[in-house]
Amino acid sequence: MTAEINSGMILKILKNRLATPKLVKPKSDPFETLIVTIISQNTADTNTQRAFENLSKQFEITPQTLSTAETYKIEACLHVGGLYKNKAQTIKNVSKIILEKYCGSLNSILSLPLDESRKVLMEMPGIGPKTADVVLLFSANQPTIPVDTHVNRVAKRLGLAPANGEYEAVRLSLQRLFNQKDYLNVHLLLIAHGRKYCKAIHPLCMECPLNNYCPSKCLGNKND
Ligand code: SF4
Repeated sequence: MTAEINSGMILKILKNRLATPKLVKPKSDPFETLIVTIISQNTADTNTQRAFENLSKQFEITPQTLSTAETYKIEACLHVGGLYKNKAQTIKNVSKIILEKYCGSLNSILSLPLDESRKVLMEMPGIGPKTADVVLLFSANQPTIPVDTHVNRVAKRLGLAPANGEYEAVRLSLQRLFNQKDYLNVHLLLIAHGRKYCKAIHPLCMECPLNNYCPSKCLGNKND
């Protein structure tokens, strides 16, 4: 049997037990955030950081420069991470669209109402909901919770989102539960919790600070 807990208590417990995760540093420039987030898809943070540094040394991170850069040179910069060919093409494609359709800036997109700006971002090739939500949360302070693999897993194990829910179901469940001012912390702390305790394989349920409240707490024991 699990004890009752509310979203405020979950955040308080996680804040007390976890350091804010060292994600790849969010950029204040939304275009840089977009590029970092594209690079980060299926790639560890250290390799994302290295790939972005390689790219920054070689090119100015602007739609003007990246839309005309030679693809093989972008690929070489991203080679430390996964799917580098696809990502290089995505970076070129979105740079071209932003340059030609939006005068080289994401500002007009990010100033739209949230649902519209998400839709416009996700219409670009290679931009999915998580990438759109990261740009909107980190660089436009928009009220959305990006659902990465850790957020998805932890939210479902804790019963904060439907077990079989797709991206939108998880995002909207979390957003209903938590206060809008906490969305950034929710995103960061669920990632930190997923990395430290609620691991994909062998979750550390015995040590987990939320184990008294978690309907999935036997998972770790089964895997011991
Ligand atoms: S008790 Fe186990 S399954 Fe539940 S949140 Fe903690 S680590 Fe995850």
